[in-house]
Amino acid sequence: MSIAGEGLLVVVSGPSGAGKGTICKRLLETKEDLVVSVSNTTRLPREGEVHSKNYFFISRDEFQDMIKKDGFIEYAQVYGNYYGTPRKFVEENIQQGRDVLLEIDIQGALQVKEKYKEGVFVFILPPSMEELKSRITKRGTENEKEILHRFESAYREINYVSRYNYFIINDRVDTAVDKLSSIITAEKCRVDRFKMKLIGQ
Ligand code: 5GP
Repeated sequence: MSIAGEGLLVVVSGPSGAGKGTICKRLLETKEDLVVSVSNTTRLPREGEVHSKNYFFISRDEFQDMIKKDGFIEYAQVYGNYYGTPRKFVEENIQQGRDVLLEIDIQGALQVKEKYKEGVFVFILPPSMEELKSRITKRGTENEKEILHRFESAYREINYVSRYNYFIINDRVDTAVDKLSSIITAEKCRVDRFKMKLIGQ
């Protein structure tokens, strides 16, 4: 298969509170050819969240309909709500040579990894578990039960780092953004990507 002219698929995951949202937002401000895929979710919007900017907030019926139409490259249930990455946006942008960023959970990332072998998978880690708990608590968007649930999930999720290509410890946002940017730059310079272009493997 030829990937000539295609963009890179960059998948970023990490436990809730590791800071992946902040890192991705900052990265998007600096990288011109990078676009973010806005997911569909059945979760209700949080205060300040905007439809089509943060998520496409849709009903469970609409979500099921998208699944039936093969409209997602991956989808998963996370903390009781469904989240999915729209196929059309991702495939069109990659074909047009733009790099596409997905900020999705581990279940989704592993599904993407099966289908898009040439994707780049990056795991964001918190500096410590104490710091993680304090970030989830301070964010103030979840109630006590949800905070506990997210924290317990984080403990389990961290083991999945071994399934990713890169990890970044988010102790300073600037440094973490630099690292993610460097990973993307380096990946785009890989000789084997060019080989794929040249010999059409
Ligand atoms: P939140 O509700 O806090 O915005 O997101 C909860 C979790 O769902 C986060 O880990 C986020 O990365 C993940 N998520 C967001 N969009 C998607 C998606 O399209 N697919 C999957 N699998 N996870 C997603």
